[in-house]
Amino acid sequence: MPIYEFKCLECGEIIEKLFLNPEDPVELKCPKCSSESFERVLSTTSYAMGAGPGGNQPKLTTKSCGSSSQCMTLEIPGPAK
Ligand SMILES: [Zn+2]
Repeated sequence: MPIYEFKCLECGEIIEKLFLNPEDPVELKCPKCSSESFERVLSTTSYAMGAGPGGNQPKLTTKSCGSSSQCMTLEIPGPAK
């Protein structure tokens, strides 16, 4: 499950938001200053698939799946195993 972190543009508070359904509208409100202005930041804690500073970036490899087509394989290093 993707967890995104958002930073309040007013006071810098970081909040986490778990997206069960990506289609759901997102309502964000800062618990500190009640601002609704946020920017998305990449989570560095619980979800390692993002391009975080730890270097756990998914890498895309291609492998041949027959003579006329190619299959794409997403390799995710780390705890996803
Ligand atoms: Zn705030």
